[in-house]
Amino acid sequence: MDQFDVDLFVIGGGSGGVRAARIAANHGAKVKIAEEYRLGGTCVIRGCVPKKLFVYAAQFAHDFADAAGFGWTVEGVSFDWKTLIANKDKEIARLEGAYRANLERSGVEIVKQRAVIEGPHLVRLADATGVTAKVILIATGGRPNIGLDMPGRELGITSNEAFHLERLPERIIIQGAGYIALEFASLFNGLGSKVTVVHRGDKVLRGFEGELQERIAAELASAGIAFEFGATIESIHEGEGEGEKRVRLNDGRDLFADEVMLAIGRVPNTVGLGLDAVGVHLNDAGAIAVDANSRTNVPSIYAVGDVTDRVNLTPVAIREGHSFADSVFGGQPWEVDYENIPTAVFTEPEIGTVGLSEEEARARGYKLDIYKTDFRPLKATLSGSTSRTFMKLVVDQMTDKVLGVHLIGESSAEIVQIAAIAMNIGATKADFDRTMALHPSSAEELVTLR
Ligand code: FAD
Ligand code: NDP
Repeated sequence: MDQFDVDLFVIGGGSGGVRAARIAANHGAKVKIAEEYRLGGTCVIRGCVPKKLFVYAAQFAHDFADAAGFGWTVEGVSFDWKTLIANKDKEIARLEGAYRANLERSGVEIVKQRAVIEGPHLVRLADATGVTAKVILIATGGRPNIGLDMPGRELGITSNEAFHLERLPERIIIQGAGYIALEFASLFNGLGSKVTVVHRGDKVLRGFEGELQERIAAELASAGIAFEFGATIESIHEGEGEGEKRVRLNDGRDLFADEVMLAIGRVPNTVGLGLDAVGVHLNDAGAIAVDANSRTNVPSIYAVGDVTDRVNLTPVAIREGHSFADSVFGGQPWEVDYENIPTAVFTEPEIGTVGLSEEEARARGYKLDIYKTDFRPLKATLSGSTSRTFMKLVVDQMTDKVLGVHLIGESSAEIVQIAAIAMNIGATKADFDRTMALHPSSAEELVTLR
């Protein structure tokens, strides 16, 4: 072991890298971690956490509107973007510090530099220092896809910049209809921006349960978001007013806005990492190809998280990092289970979903019983909100097992986390039915579906 400077060198201090580094160090390994930007990675610095803070900010608009029906008079309400940004930045800096402290407490050495791979056991830092490692873990995450050939793309922003805008855009055009596009469309709409979503297809949220796709598009449209389906942005130009952008669509029409946000997916961070030189294979999507233990084709090099493009969610990256560290340094090998991963889209109303959609289940040959409900939530009876709650259970007719839970409405993310536990222990529809309802709640509908 002494032939190497360290047992483990982790490239990337995000969700997966930090977890792997800490657990490996706790198992007694000598660990270094390199981070070129800020510890915490995408999720903490410019992903899940600041996004959710923005979502909370936007929800107040709905709360103020809902309050009148309950007797409140809400007057003189105003919103200050700069306050939100400053408070968000303070919280992100605090979290970054907590990540640093936790790594240090575990005995991990932090290197604040870019690192690339030069050999199966050799990492080169930006300051030209070489570090030898028995094992190298690539946890470099992903970055926004900005398209390569669209004229004027430099006038657009991505989610990265959306967290640092000088002012709240009065009008924003968002291209794409995935998680990021819809979450930002919804939160900017809540904060008062006029939002237009430009999407090449006719369905939002590819891969989601079909009825959720239809309902969320309808809910967002009724909240005031304009959708341009079957449309793409051909080019972006400076507009006439100060800071104004003119967007040329593929059908020749021009749209105008203060910001144009590209949310057309993310690409794994593999470029310039030295993977070619050392012979690490990529898959067709340009992500690092790994086996069930996150090992690449080079035995001393592993990869976890978004750079492997398996399921690009923070808890998955964390678990992959943990599994890697336990397996390679803890003598306790285990593999990540990719079944029943719950996920949420933090729009208003929010989506929570776990398991198979009806379409997927039928494609896999299941005979199904489908249970669903669509109702006006109790709160809406006084608030006057027209938003509805929708729930759908996909059940295997043969075994009665619940294969999918799909929700749209208040607290869907919170509810679906618990539904995922039930599914992981093999809950049947009969198990749901014999569970006593909790009244009055929305979640009780899940145990009273007939
Ligand atoms: P990352 O967290 O991206 O970390 C990679 C790190 O490596 C980065 O800090 C980067 O600077 C560093 N790095 C890259 N190359 C090098 C190098 N050569 N040398 C040194 N350092 C390097 N997921 C959820 O589960 N829930 C959500 O609500 C959610 N919201 C999101 C919202 C947005 C706007 C975005 C963009 C993503 C969101 N995600 C969400 C996805 C989640 O952020 C990612 O799945 C997760 O961060 C992946 O972790 P990772 O460790 O693979 O990579
Ligand atoms: P997604 O893959 O979810 O969505 C990409 C969108 O862009 C799709 O609507 C896609 O259309 C469209 N698109 C792709 N390429 C092009 C192109 N060349 N031209 C026009 N449109 C295009 O990516 P996101 O960037 O929204 O998010 C990345 C990932 O980050 C998510 O998949 C998720 O794993 C994670 N994430 C998770 C969140 C959460 O947990 N709440 C929140 C944010 C991100 P089409 O449907 O036609 O393919």
